[in-house]
Amino acid sequence: AEMNWQTLGDLLFADTGIQSRRLQATPLQGGNINQAYRLDDGRHRVFVKLNRGDRLEMFNAEQAGLETIRNCGSIRVPEVYATGCIADQAFIAMEYIELSGKINEAQFALALAAMHNCNQQRFGFDCDNTIGSTAQPNTWTDNWVEFWRHYRLGFQLELARKNNLEPQLIDAGEGLCEILHRLFSDYQPQGSLLHGDLWQGNYAADNFGQVVIYDPACYFGDHEADLAMMELFGHPGERFFEAYRDAFDINDGYRLRRDLYNLYHLLNHANLFGGGYAAQALRMMQKLRSQV
Ligand code: ADP
Repeated sequence: AEMNWQTLGDLLFADTGIQSRRLQATPLQGGNINQAYRLDDGRHRVFVKLNRGDRLEMFNAEQAGLETIRNCGSIRVPEVYATGCIADQAFIAMEYIELSGKINEAQFALALAAMHNCNQQRFGFDCDNTIGSTAQPNTWTDNWVEFWRHYRLGFQLELARKNNLEPQLIDAGEGLCEILHRLFSDYQPQGSLLHGDLWQGNYAADNFGQVVIYDPACYFGDHEADLAMMELFGHPGERFFEAYRDAFDINDGYRLRRDLYNLYHLLNHANLFGGGYAAQALRMMQKLRSQV
């Protein structure tokens, strides 16, 4: 459907000064889930994502996540101007940030560690959100192992069942859920503010070389989950981990739990895309089983 950019421009004028009379909307590459645009009037720019009207909740949750990270004050995120629906299209409009700088890994590490030091006594978030396009429940829970078992692995295994993925995968996953506590025998994580979906496509550097993170799937959880995701589809340099450790200790058991945390994203990919991801998830479960 065609977006009525004029209406959106008028709505954003008070916050941004953008002139809807002179508005240009340019489609941008790179998003997986939504269509992204840059709005430009020659003087002001706004970054906008669009989706079907029934995905407004997803944008509201994205706004809640971005604002929580912003309030924590340790790492740059775009400022959200508005979410809403125009005709049958949902939108989220936020600060446009030119992402062309080179990441300074040490600065990124310190900023991320500072964000992980914003914490809660329990695990979850004030609203549910999405991981990729899959629902992600964030029900507040006092016990981290229980949270990971029910709302992360268990939820994806239930989806796997509905999607008719191999019973072998589901059985292995359920077996793992029963012994999860063994991976936490001498480790009790705090509820750190997490980005939640920290693969390489969701961070970049602004023109000052300062890191910007976006497209979060926020919740309060073990900081190791964010670190693990950074190592799943790519790898930050050793400089990153050295700098991170200066600000936030990484427990020795991280090597083992990293697979547990990435298993969640592999299951999600198996549910979204099937194929090789299910096999990869099964191998990871078997590796974990052999080690605990
Ligand atoms: P999706 O929700 O569809 O995955 P993203 O939020 O990841 O979309 O945004 C798509 C792309 O747009 C990103 O990969 C990034 O390059 C760029 N981008 C994201 N946020 C901004 C922003 N605030 N300003 C400018 N470009 C952005």
